[in-house]
Amino acid sequence: MRYDVLIIGAGVAGLYSAMNLPKSKSVLVVCKDIPWECNTFYAQGGVVTALDRDDIEAHVEDTVKAGAFHNRREAVDILSRTSLDTTRDMIERGMNFDRDGDGNLLYTKEAGHSRERILHAGGDATGRYMHYFLMSNNPHKLQRNTLVYDLLIEDGRCYGVKALVNYEPVTIYAKDTIIASGGVGSLYQYNTNSRTVSADIHGICVEKGITLSDMEMMQFHPTVFVDSPFARKLLLTEALRGEGASVVDDDGYRFLFDYDKRGELATRDVVSRAIFTHKKETNKGVYLDFSMFKRDWFRERFPNITKTFHSLGYRLPEDRVPISPAFHYAIGGIKSDLDGKVEGIENLYVVGEAGNTGVHGANRLASNSLLEGVVFAKRAVSHILGKESSKFKKPIFDKEYKKIIHHGKDREYKRRLREIMWEDVGIIRTKRGLLKAKNIIYDMKNRDIGRLLELRLNTASAIVESALKREESLGTHYIIS
Ligand SMILES: Cc1cc2nc3c(=O)[nH]c(=O)nc-3n(C[C@H](O)[C@H](O)[C@H](O)COP(=O)(O)OP(=O)(O)OC[C@H]3O[C@@H](n4cnc5c(N)ncnc54)[C@H](O)[C@@H]3O)c2cc1C
Repeated sequence: MRYDVLIIGAGVAGLYSAMNLPKSKSVLVVCKDIPWECNTFYAQGGVVTALDRDDIEAHVEDTVKAGAFHNRREAVDILSRTSLDTTRDMIERGMNFDRDGDGNLLYTKEAGHSRERILHAGGDATGRYMHYFLMSNNPHKLQRNTLVYDLLIEDGRCYGVKALVNYEPVTIYAKDTIIASGGVGSLYQYNTNSRTVSADIHGICVEKGITLSDMEMMQFHPTVFVDSPFARKLLLTEALRGEGASVVDDDGYRFLFDYDKRGELATRDVVSRAIFTHKKETNKGVYLDFSMFKRDWFRERFPNITKTFHSLGYRLPEDRVPISPAFHYAIGGIKSDLDGKVEGIENLYVVGEAGNTGVHGANRLASNSLLEGVVFAKRAVSHILGKESSKFKKPIFDKEYKKIIHHGKDREYKRRLREIMWEDVGIIRTKRGLLKAKNIIYDMKNRDIGRLLELRLNTASAIVESALKREESLGTHYIIS
């Protein structure tokens, strides 16, 4: 198989890249499972856009403030400025954001935003609507059940990938490869992510000596329903607190104000730590309370949450729902420049949650990530289309691999890894806990394990190493002695 462009991932970043590549190019989009099994599909709250030129400065300020000023300012400027074009482009191509009775776009506000600038669709089903829109507009071939387990890299250039297609090993060559494989959710015991998001490509990059940056910056979402048996825990969108839902304990006490004067509207890391600490110190349950909402309004604004929780036995908005923080978003990732080019490797790009342009700094502002996927996908594609076409080469890659899918005790080791990452590399970290995690990961790496576990362990090591290097707390990285 040989293509002009190969895209790894069919979420917002991969599909918006595909949408912007002309039909004259031979393009293949691959994804691990069914295409809608990705984080994009599960996004609820919305996608940010600068409202107009005058709003860019405020959006940038909100983003860098949330990011603890660790952001790459140039990337944030690009994000906000380009949003005016990408939002218009999506609407013109048929994306249906929610509107009022007169046809005006509806905007909402989430924590950390100084004004209402978040578009949403289907009430609380923005990701589902966006994914459908992107799939419908993708003019290129999309191949499911394709699991990438290696990048073909020789002399500082990428030539494509090795993948299992329906469990058969296949080599796919491409002039340019775009990584759009999402974050690292499956590394954590409690996480809100799709099961397909398991840090494989990050792990390959570690193996190849490609830089991952800001890997200590892992974001936890404060309001997640974790009492379900499934790996993916159910998120209760930030927009609920934005609209006025409150966080209470068993006694109905709104304890968040004891931690931060912004209460429910403090940034995610602050609210996550407050809930985590309050639970630990008081042994009390913590809940999201919707009783202030009118029933009809709530059910129209949050139809999916209402339905999902109804099937679990909760009547919303009357019942309060028990919550806990859970891993949510990888701020750190594969280091790239502002065109998505991976540092040090020709013909390799990274976009979306897999990458790190520095746009989110030390803490991502709510609803900036769908936008990031769109904006940097557009830039990577422009770069690919703007450069001179290189001659095609097909070097032979005959490396031997360990058993790829599972091996021996892999399942048990993966479970143990998720526990350690949650307990020792989670919301509140200590040097001792990080060193413990480092040793356990090192020990597992030296066992007889399969390829996919090896890749997860590589990524976990990168997170631990970065966390150990940053001795002071910053943004989502919170470390105590
Ligand atoms: C529950 C939830 C709610 C969210 N709500 C919002 C929100 O309201 N607003 C917002 O801005 N952000 C939100 N986010 C974050 C946002 O959804 C993600 O950051 C964004 O969708 C990531 O898009 P992506 O294209 O980078 O990756 P994804 O959408 O996760 O897609 C990853 C793709 O890569 C493929 N892949 C992975 N590994 C491999 C491999 N080895 N081989 C082949 N394919 C592979 C997967 O199959 C998948 O197709 C939310 C996230 C979650 C989990």
